[in-house]
Amino acid sequence: MTKKQLRVAHLYGNLLNTYGDNGNLLVLNYLAKKINVDFSIEMVSLYDTFEPDHYDFVFFGGGQDYEQKIVSKDLQTKKAALIEYIENDGVLLAICGGYQLLGHYYITANGEKIEGIGALDHYTLNQDNQRFTGDIKIYNETFDETYLGFENHNGRTFLGASERPLGKVLEGHGNNGEDQSEGVIYRNVFGSYFHGPILARNEHLAQRLLSLALTKKYGE
Ligand code: GLN
Repeated sequence: MTKKQLRVAHLYGNLLNTYGDNGNLLVLNYLAKKINVDFSIEMVSLYDTFEPDHYDFVFFGGGQDYEQKIVSKDLQTKKAALIEYIENDGVLLAICGGYQLLGHYYITANGEKIEGIGALDHYTLNQDNQRFTGDIKIYNETFDETYLGFENHNGRTFLGASERPLGKVLEGHGNNGEDQSEGVIYRNVFGSYFHGPILARNEHLAQRLLSLALTKKYGE
């Protein structure tokens, strides 16, 4: 039998990688190796083409406003392809800045509006002279799982009707500090403000993403 393989796109990994977000890919690579699955990562960044049919997993990390602005422009050229990937139930993990840019727009700390791609129905506002910083703990009732992480964001994200949160905030601020939601799940897209990296601290979530990607590609 030929070895199973997951083809992975790391979106803008050279620009968006706060707090070692790419550790998420190291974790998935480690878990994939343990079950003899080849996990081959390609960087897809500025001016590259994103081929929706080519990838089995996509990772989109977080970053500073400056880099997000650069990414936002280029991302518009990949908008249709990314929406196709997502609507075809492609598996994707987006953290913080990447999570914000999958939504409609993001208002930066100094009030500038950055376009997202509206692949998901959320939007992100800013807040004055304040960031949501610190340890965070959330609970996902459907999976009966608790996730731990560290958050550091100015943005306040509000989910749309088609989205459900990754979890309910038990400790910390979450999406917006108001509605106790943290992160998002939409089809096979998972978004979160968690750094840490999220998959290093929450192996059950890492296993979930890996098995989603494998099931999508190879069946049960
Ligand atoms: N610049 C964004 C914010 O402050 C995202 C930060 C991040 O990715 N850590 O909300």
